[in-house]
This record gives sequence, C-alpha cells and structure tokens, in this order.
Amino acid sequence: KRSISQSESWYERAKESILGGVNSPARSFKSVGGHTPVTMARAQGAYLYDVDGNRYIDYVCAYGPIITGHAHPAIAEAVANASREGYLFGTPSVWEPLYAERLKAAIPELERVRMVNSGTEAVMTTLRVARAYTKRSRIIKFAGCYHGHSDAVLVAAGSGPSSVGVPDSAGVPASTAQEVITVPFNDVASLRQAASHYGEEIAAILIEPVVGNFGIVTPHPGYLAEVRRVANELGAVLIYDEVITGFRFRYGAVEFDDVKPDLYAFGKIIGGGLPIGAYGGRREIMEQVSPLGPAYQAGTMAGNAISLRAGLACLQLLSDTTIYERMETLAKRLESGLLARARAHGVAVTVNRYKTAFTLFFGPEKIENYAQAMDTNSQQFSAFFHHLLEHGVHLAPSKYEAWFLTTEHTEAMIDETLAIADSAFAAIRP
Ligand code: PMP
Repeated sequence: KRSISQSESWYERAKESILGGVNSPARSFKSVGGHTPVTMARAQGAYLYDVDGNRYIDYVCAYGPIITGHAHPAIAEAVANASREGYLFGTPSVWEPLYAERLKAAIPELERVRMVNSGTEAVMTTLRVARAYTKRSRIIKFAGCYHGHSDAVLVAAGSGPSSVGVPDSAGVPASTAQEVITVPFNDVASLRQAASHYGEEIAAILIEPVVGNFGIVTPHPGYLAEVRRVANELGAVLIYDEVITGFRFRYGAVEFDDVKPDLYAFGKIIGGGLPIGAYGGRREIMEQVSPLGPAYQAGTMAGNAISLRAGLACLQLLSDTTIYERMETLAKRLESGLLARARAHGVAVTVNRYKTAFTLFFGPEKIENYAQAMDTNSQQFSAFFHHLLEHGVHLAPSKYEAWFLTTEHTEAMIDETLAIADSAFAAIRP
C-alpha cells in the first residue's frame, strides 16, 4: 500500500497557516469523505508526483487548464523568456495585440476582447457589460453551472422556475440573489416561463454551452438555438461561459447548433496553465467598457506577459488540430473500457462524453441536468475515487467532475487506468 506520510505532515502543516489547508475548497477532499489530500511536489507530462514519491496519471489537469501536459517545454520556455525580458509593464506591450489577434483568429466573433486574470473576473465583467449595454439588471443562469465565485453567480434557484434566486454562499446579499433567476439546463419550458415572467428586465442569459460543472453535459439538439431565440426576443445579451470549454474540445469556442453568443468569457486553457481570463464579443457591446464606455474594468496584472506568452505557446501547440483527434481517440478508449469493466462487475454507470472529455457517473441514467447529476451514487463514486488514487490515478474528488485528456496521455496510460478501474469496480460490486 502506498505511503502518504509526507502528504499527511504537509497537510497538517498547511492547515496551521492556510485556512483549511487549501487555496480552493475541492482540494480538501471534503466531498469524498475528507481523507488527507495528496500534496504534490512536481508534475511532468500526464503525471503528478507527490511528496512521498508516488506517481499519478492525472485526469484532473488542474480542472482544465493543463491540456498540453504539465511543464510542457514550449510553455516553460515562453515563461522563462518572459521572466528575463520583463513580465509586467503597466503600459501596453507587444504581447497584448499579438495574443488578442491569436484569440480572434480562432474565434472571429471576438470583435473586441479584454484580458483579465481569472475565469471569475471574466464572467463577472461580462455581466457588468451586459447590464451596462441593456440598462437592465436581471440575469438568467442555469442550475449547476459554475461561473466563478463572484456574488451574482453564487446564487441558487428559488422555489419555482420563475422565482428569484437565493444566496448559494454566506456573504452573498439577498438583494444580489434577487437579480438572478436560475432555471434547469436542457429545459426550454422553464426558460420560457422565466423569460415571460421577467421579460425586458433581463439583461443577460449566462450559460455554459456544453456544461463542464455538473459533469460533461451536452445541450439537447436545438436547445442552444432556443436559448439564442429567447435572448433575441427579450433583447438580452447571450453570454457563453467558455472558461472550461474554450479550446478544450476543438481549437476555438464550442460549435453547437451553429449558435453564436454576444459575449464570451474564457480562462483556463488560454493561459497555458498560468493565471488568465478573457472576455469579449460584439464590438458594439464591448464599447461599453472603459476607457471607451461607462462600464469600469481594470487590472494591475491584466495582460501580464508571462500569462500571455504562456498562452500563446499553448495555443500554438493546439493549432495542430490533429491533437484533438488523438485526445478524442484516447477518451473513447477510456469511455468504452470503463463501461465494459463496470458492466462486467455489475456496477451501474453511465458515461457522458463530449469529444475529449467525459464524466463517469455512478447511476444507470444518461445525465441531462443538475438534479440528475446530484442523484448519482456518492458512496460508490467515493470508493472508486479513493481506490484509483491509492493505485496511482488522479481524479477530481467530486462525483460530477470531468476527466480531461492531454496531448501527453498515451494508450498505455489509458490501459493502466482501465486495469486499476477494473479492480475498483470489483471492490464496489453491489
Ligand atoms: N466559469 C466556469 C465554467 C468554470 O468552470 C470556472 C472554474 N472552474 C470559472 C468560471 C471560474 O474560473 P476561475 O477559477 O479561473 O476563477
């Protein structure tokens, strides 16, 4: 059995200075029974290495940003170059238009764009811009979608499809939650009901076009077209939160039903593993933003050269689009292998896969919304998670997180993962 004694002592030590011992709550393993989280010492390619010298095949990929593997030499070189040539100027730099042009070449709808430092900031600002543009204040969002930790998006559904939201975190004012209506994903009737109830009070509809936050969940065919239609009818701004999805499934934004939003929020992959966010879209709407318009947004670190040069290096690697096909082939191999092994042991699972990412749910039904994802088996997931971790496979400690592939995963790693999963399914056989 693997030793984690060094992890244990680092975690105890961390808790004496860092609140909860972690800088983001999921890392504490609270959702899978609260065992000691593993403390990593380094990472390379598709592997993480902990302080006890154990190696893990990584399917978390830092919750999405790591798509070319850990410590990719091209990204490390970009970071090193920036560190020598200056990384924060407090002025325009050449890296900003070079970077923005690269994004725009991949996503032509980004007529104007701004760089920020996180997905949270990107989404938060799109809401402000949409409110400035429409001179309205209410937002429609979708249950189970996560959009960062700003007040307006830490709001849960009220009691009915068109009731106002309630704070989903202590410290979020009820007055903020009242501006936000949360409806179930993939449910046209609920969206229409909220839209007709609030009509021209709606500033924006905010959605993950392919959900990454209650598992990988694709929209029903025609659903996004309907969301687009509702936004048009209301005169509301349609915002795609592509913080997870941008450049994850293809080189660019999500392509589904041929629908385009008015604004996008990006983060994660576009920084190649360094802190970043970006938002942008229709020029007329973006012109609300200072210095051209009345909606304020700024950032001391915004557009720093380390993040932009790392991001450019990452996008350069991803522009070889055959790598998406390769990652998808590996994802399919993993999907079919997991399904076959679970079936062999009589464990009911379902896999929601979209191209290069998927979620393994412990339950028999295909997952189409948050309520169904919540309903899947937590005990079985938790047992599976700990078994894989103990045997060198790193999954996110949540029953509805995605498994991500990188360019550095190999068939051999997939097969090793499947062998370990097989023993996990055997152990949790009902
Ligand atoms: N939007 C989505 C869809 C996300 O998944 C996340 C982070 N998981 C965010 C926004 C927030 O991004 P960040 O953690 O960089 O603030």
